[in-house]
Amino acid sequence: MRALCWNGVNDLRVESVADPALLNPHDAIIKVRLTTTCGSDLHVIDGLIPTMREGDILGHEFMGEVVEVGSAVKNIRSGDRVVVPSFISCGSCWYCQHELPSCCDNTNPHWEQGEPVLGHATAGIYAYSHAFGGYAGSHAEYVRVPFADNDCLWCRKASAMNRRCSCPMPRRPATWAPTFVIFTPAIPWRSGAAAAWA
Ligand SMILES: [Zn+2]
Ligand SMILES: [Zn+2]
Repeated sequence: MRALCWNGVNDLRVESVADPALLNPHDAIIKVRLTTTCGSDLHVIDGLIPTMREGDILGHEFMGEVVEVGSAVKNIRSGDRVVVPSFISCGSCWYCQHELPSCCDNTNPHWEQGEPVLGHATAGIYAYSHAFGGYAGSHAEYVRVPFADNDCLWCRKASAMNRRCSCPMPRRPATWAPTFVIFTPAIPWRSGAAAAWA
């Protein structure tokens, strides 16, 4: 697939990379339809966020179509349209159960790298350095979503995604503020999707 890769400070390149694969029964693979360029991407691009590695794929807020699910995934299936927030959360740890998914205990395998700087461990974040888990991001044709049952917010009317998205999970943290920009031409921009989120 093609993806936007970080190769150093102010050095981004669109490259051919390996397609993502299911690594865990709770994973899903999403075909990215829309992905946002976030202000936080600038911190990665200008080198403010350490522990980036050459070839890391950028992008941490996105929506798209499910194309493959692991054997333990129950809530979504291939063909569903979903929205995915930047923080990766399991849905079952103490923090997730207390509506603090950005502190999820189960999604950042490198939590000890961020704790000395931030004062506490955080959840994993797509494309936000290896201190936040080293997850590949969404500025790509496909992305792997761990804990897909918890993190894929299902769009109720998939066929009407161009007009509006209806999310069945009403409570998400304030850090989750999607401002979508077009990445693939499959869905016309300014067709009403943005207004639905305003
Ligand atoms: Zn962001
Ligand atoms: Zn959790």
